Amino acid sequence: MGDQIVYPPLPKPTELTRHFWEGAAEHRLVILRCQACGFYLHPPRPICRRCRSWEVGPEEVSGRGELYTYTVTETPFHPYWADKVPYVVAVVTLEEQPDLRVITNVVDCPEEKLRVGLPVEVTFVEAAPELTLPVFRPSFRPTA
Ligand code: ZN
Repeated sequence: MGDQIVYPPLPKPTELTRHFWEGAAEHRLVILRCQACGFYLHPPRPICRRCRSWEVGPEEVSGRGELYTYTVTETPFHPYWADKVPYVVAVVTLEEQPDLRVITNVVDCPEEKLRVGLPVEVTFVEAAPELTLPVFRPSFRPTA
C-alpha cells in the first residue's frame, strides 16, 4: 500500500489551454500570442487585450525569466505533495514581455538562494503519465 503511486489532480484542457499542456508534454513552453500585434496572452484569452484582435495563436517561448514572487509551502494540499513539502510556489516573469507571468514551481534551488529577480529557466516534471508540468530552476546565464 505504501508503494502506491499517487498522481496530482489532472488539468482538463480546453480549447484555450490545450496548447499549453501539449507543449509541456513535448518539453516546450507554449504561450498564446496575438498574431496581429505580437502581444503574449497568459492566462490565455481568446482575444488580444492590447489590440482586441481575435487572431491569437500558440507560440513557443524561450523559457527564460526571473522570479517575480514566491512562497514556500509546508502543507500538502493533496496527497501527491505529501512527500514533496516543502516546495516552492512561484510567479515567474518571462523574458518576452514585462507583464508575462506564469504560476509555477521552483525546483533545484535551496531555500536560502531564493530571491525576487533570480534568473530562472524552464524545466519539466513528469507528474503523471498524462501530465507534464513546466517548472523553473535557477539559471546561471550572464546578467550583464
Ligand atoms: Zn494584439
